[in-house]
Amino acid sequence: MSTDWMSQGKCREYPAEIFFPRNGTGVITTQKICESCPVINECLEYALENHVDHGVWGGKSERERRRLSRMRRRIVNIDFAS
Ligand code: SF4
Repeated sequence: MSTDWMSQGKCREYPAEIFFPRNGTGVITTQKICESCPVINECLEYALENHVDHGVWGGKSERERRRLSRMRRRIVNIDFAS
């Protein structure tokens, strides 16, 4: 997957550590930044494809991305089973 989209990320305007929050409040603050990012979808796909397990990517926390990945695996398994 291309990483050209990274140059358009809203996070470039902020210190990197903001995107690696240590608590829920930090996650919410970071997600608000991501909400207005023009490459939020590309960012999320990149994180899911590459199994990035730290920080907020594509507006999703680590836990949310794990949940999304599990849901996708289930959907793929259902498709193959039918
Ligand atoms: S979605 Fe968030 S983490 Fe991803 S590029 Fe945009 S601002 Fe950065």
